[in-house]
This record gives sequence, structure tokens and C-alpha cells, in this order.
Amino acid sequence: MNYKSVKGTADILPAPAGSIELRQAMESISQDVFQRFGYREVRTPIIEERSLFVKSIGEETDIVTKEMFSFKDRGEREIVLRPEGTAPIVRAYLEANLHKTDAFQKFYYIGPMFRAERPQAGRMRQFHQIGAEAIGSGLPEIDAEIIRLLAALLDAMKIRGYKIRINNLGCKDDKAGLSKTLRTILDKEKNALCDDCKKRLDKNPLRVLDCKNESCRTMVRSVFKSVKFLCENCEGHFKKVLACLDDLNIKYELDPFIVRGLDYYTQTVFEVTHPELGSQDALGAGGRYDNLISDMGGPELGAAGFALGVERILIVAAKQEAAAYPDDKKVIYIATMGEAAKKKGFGLLDSLRGGKWEKKMSFDMDYENKSLKAQMREADKLGAKLVLIIGDDEIAKGEVMLRDMMTKEQQSVKFDDVARTIKGKI
Ligand SMILES: [Zn+2]
Ligand SMILES: [Zn+2]
Repeated sequence: MNYKSVKGTADILPAPAGSIELRQAMESISQDVFQRFGYREVRTPIIEERSLFVKSIGEETDIVTKEMFSFKDRGEREIVLRPEGTAPIVRAYLEANLHKTDAFQKFYYIGPMFRAERPQAGRMRQFHQIGAEAIGSGLPEIDAEIIRLLAALLDAMKIRGYKIRINNLGCKDDKAGLSKTLRTILDKEKNALCDDCKKRLDKNPLRVLDCKNESCRTMVRSVFKSVKFLCENCEGHFKKVLACLDDLNIKYELDPFIVRGLDYYTQTVFEVTHPELGSQDALGAGGRYDNLISDMGGPELGAAGFALGVERILIVAAKQEAAAYPDDKKVIYIATMGEAAKKKGFGLLDSLRGGKWEKKMSFDMDYENKSLKAQMREADKLGAKLVLIIGDDEIAKGEVMLRDMMTKEQQSVKFDDVARTIKGKI
């Protein structure tokens, strides 16, 4: 084999080689849930201008400094493969002037994102996210709705045992104040920090709070306990968010060490983790980003959102009952013996495919003149519920032999009655 998929990317094949069916089921479940919550789909391009992410995610973040796939196109424009979904949606919202017509909008997206990290389980260079953004409101009910929506998605996907951890970073001023305080406190303990955190101390001290290094964690946990940094307004907002979550019976833990790696977050931030994931334990994350719209040249409008990692969900799903998302499509197979039967079957196949069906259907037949035994094996492999068998005898009588693959019962059915009989049996 001469060609392989690019490092960190993977083909998503049908079963049994792959699991496209699981992903399709996840997408369809998500679409139903989003619809219930009043969120509508947006599909933004895979490529965006590099500056969009530098401006929104932040110049000093890991994503921008080392993880973006960026290149110059033939017009010397700096282009990147999108590393996340929020900035493109806000760009699309502003570009379409939605803030001028109907400022409050709820969107969702499903699609690939790209980050040039060292590939490992649940962290590919092309990965996929299911996300939502509620744009145009600063109300605490929105924070709660977004978290409720995220939980509803995981519940609908039958993911059990996830944990929601919440924090509040405060407004821009609170964040700046906290950064300053942290710089002062941590500077005295600099020797206990890892090399990365020594650099972060200067540029982005908030990130020291969520460093995974043991020595950093211990030190930060001992000095950070008593730091109060939220203004009254933010304190009030957070209280209302938590009260809404309580009203919705959402279980969560407060975790003052969640800061998220992206600069645009303000106020509520949250992560959903799962013990099945090991050290990379986040299924998804999100939060409020009240300054992003104005930072990108739009009006002062609040917004909140989240993204779930499809590959992470699949890792957990594989270990839980969700691995068997119901496949409700009914497979009907036509088995034929001889040229005349094949011709008849070919016509029947087409009329069945074009018929009106209330359930999800799939119709197929063999074109390669395989033996009846081989055709029955194929029907079995496809999971056929019913097989329509046609031979010379059946053609002479204007019938097909309909075999129920579960009960093994067979019955003769007139050609004109085939569709009706199938409907009665599925
Ligand atoms: Zn504040
Ligand atoms: Zn560290």
C-alpha cells in the first residue's frame, strides 16, 4: 500500500471495520435534542483567516502558539484549518448582521476541527465536535440552559457517570485582577513551578491554576484557597446560575481550578469529565464569553456555549450500553435464482426502493449470480429481517417466497402484494 491517511487523521468506515453507524446515531440523537431546546444548525467553512483565532482564542494560548494548522494560500493569505467552533460562529453571526435584526440566536454545529497535537487516544489532529452557542444574552438562565443542554445530549446518548464541574472566572476586570494577584503570590513560590508555568506566570498566570504537574497543583492549592476576586455583579450572576441549575436538578461540583485554555471565556466556565477517559478526561467544556462579540468588532452582547468531543464520547460509549445505539432500519433482501428471476428481482428492488415507507428501510439484492446459499449468507450479514426469494416457479405463479429471517417461516406472496405484506411484518 502506497498511501496512508495523514498522521493524526483517520477514516471513519462502516461496521465492522469502523463505526460510522455510531456517529450517525449520535448526530441524529443530537439533532433531536438541539431541536427540543430551540437551537438551529450552522455550518461554517473548515478554513478561516488565521487572525480570527489569534484575536479570539488569544495570542499566547497553546492552540494559537503551537497547535494550529496554518498555511498561506495562493493569494498569500494566512489561512488555518479551524481549531474550534465558537469563533467561526461568532464571525458568521456578525458577518450576516444578525445582531442588527434579531440579536439573540441559538445555534449548534457538528463537524471536524483540527489541532496539530501529538496524536493519542481521544486526541486526533482531525477530531470532531458537537457544540452549541447561545449568542446575544448575558442572562444567567442562558448559562444554565447551555449546561442543561449539554447534559441532555449526553443523557440521550446514554452516557452514564459523567461529572460536571463549574467555576466562575468573573468579568474582564475580575480576570485581570486575579491574574495580577496570582502573579504576585506565585512569584514568591516560583521555584515550585514547572517550566511551562514559569512562562505562564508572565503571560497568562490563570493557566497555572489548571496545570497538571503535581508540584504546581500542590503549591497552587495551598496558596489560592483564600483569594476572592469576583465583583458583586459577577458574584450575583454566578449565584443565579447555580440556583437555576438546582431548579433543573443538575448535579455539579464547584471547582475553582477550572480556567479553560482559551482567552475569551468570562464568568461561568465548566468541564464535563468522565472517569473512563483516564488522564485526558474531558468529554467537553464550555462557558460564557461576554467580550468576544465586542472584541471582534460587534456590539456589547453576552454569549455562552460548549463543545463536546465526539471521539471522547465514543471511547466512553464503547464501554457502556451506548455502544448499542439502536439501529432501527429494516433491511429487506431479494434473493434470485436464474436470469429471468434476476430481471424480475431487479424491477421489484427498484419499485420497493421508490415506495412510500414510514420506517427507515434498506433494500438490496445480489447482482453477481451467487448461489442461493451465498445470497442467504449475504442477507444474514446485512441483518435482513425479510428475504424475498424468486426462482422460475415463483415467476410462473407471479409470486415471491417471503422468508422471515427470525422465525424462519416462509409464505408465498403475489407480486402486487409484496410491499403491503412487508409493511405488515416490519
Ligand atoms: Zn466582575
Ligand atoms: Zn505547571
